[in-house]
Amino acid sequence: MLRALHEAHQRVHLLHKELEESQRATQRLEQQLAEREKQLRQLQDEIRQLKVTLHDREVTEKQLQEKITRWQKQILAANTAREYQALQNQIESARLQLSALEDEMLELMDKLERRQLELPQREQAVAETRQELQHLQQQRRERLHLIQERLNQAQVDVAQLESQLPGELLETYQRLVRRGAKDALAAVEHGSCMGCFTGTTLQMQQDLRLNRPVVCKSCGRILYLVESV
Ligand SMILES: [Zn+2]
Repeated sequence: MLRALHEAHQRVHLLHKELEESQRATQRLEQQLAEREKQLRQLQDEIRQLKVTLHDREVTEKQLQEKITRWQKQILAANTAREYQALQNQIESARLQLSALEDEMLELMDKLERRQLELPQREQAVAETRQELQHLQQQRRERLHLIQERLNQAQVDVAQLESQLPGELLETYQRLVRRGAKDALAAVEHGSCMGCFTGTTLQMQQDLRLNRPVVCKSCGRILYLVESV
């Protein structure tokens, strides 16, 4: 009876642990998905920003080109050498600006292209993680039902076995259960308590064989004998 009670407690413990682990696995995947979604959003933002900057540079480029064209016409109509030289200088300076601008635009286009190439990969990573999570959640819902059933059964078993506990063990048992039900009892194998691996006395072993209540002197667990096979 004590052995069955101990096993029922252990079943309850293992089932609770499985519930927790399954929840943790789901949480880990949820975090991973959130992280990947964030990376995707950052990439999309960067691409958007690059396009805006590139457009802005295109506008500046067009304005510079228009200025150069205008000044080139004015230079033909220049009346004085000073006016001619001033326009020449303006054109020269605008051309330098234009050249730097074009270099910058090439770099921007190159960067934009590279970022756009990364996009499908990132999108796929998000889609895969999302699918994985859905799969896990589905599995979990199915498993949860089963675990809950087993848990209910184990708890029924515990209650039924507890009602058979000898009166003199009841107080000790209740105190031990409050500390952790799965460690309230321990088997004795080859003369040792399997809870703390301390040896038992000959007197204890004899009491155990006579089905008398025995408590481990070292860890305080309620002991029961496991027949050596
Ligand atoms: Zn012990």
